[in-house]
Amino acid sequence: MTVLNAAYKTHSGTASMDKKRLEYYKKKLQSKREELLRSIARTEEEGRSADDDPTVDLADKAANSYTKEFLFGQNNTDRTTLQQIDEALNRIRNNSFGTCVNCETELQQKRLEAVPWASHCTVCQEKHEQGLL
Ligand SMILES: [Zn+2]
Repeated sequence: MTVLNAAYKTHSGTASMDKKRLEYYKKKLQSKREELLRSIARTEEEGRSADDDPTVDLADKAANSYTKEFLFGQNNTDRTTLQQIDEALNRIRNNSFGTCVNCETELQQKRLEAVPWASHCTVCQEKHEQGLL
């Protein structure tokens, strides 16, 4: 155990995350990225076809603009996540993946498993959401 601890301490930051694990998260991020790109393209297509339909009456138009607003919001969420994924992939390249971008605390595996593009530890994430960061 002492040996392990010593080895851990000599490495800084993400050195404690082995290559295999990094590759695993990279794959996860890339497949999620593709999924989002497909979803964004599909949503944009739906928004366009709702616009082009000349047979829709006024009530339908109102419903359409509601749908479009919803789709737009959905796309915004997708785009935000996409950006976070791109940043996470950059961090893999820079060897800074898996640590909080603010305090450099190592992120919990459990957290990365659920949200591999997480950029903040839970403490900083909370501050971030409250606008304190
Ligand atoms: Zn932090």
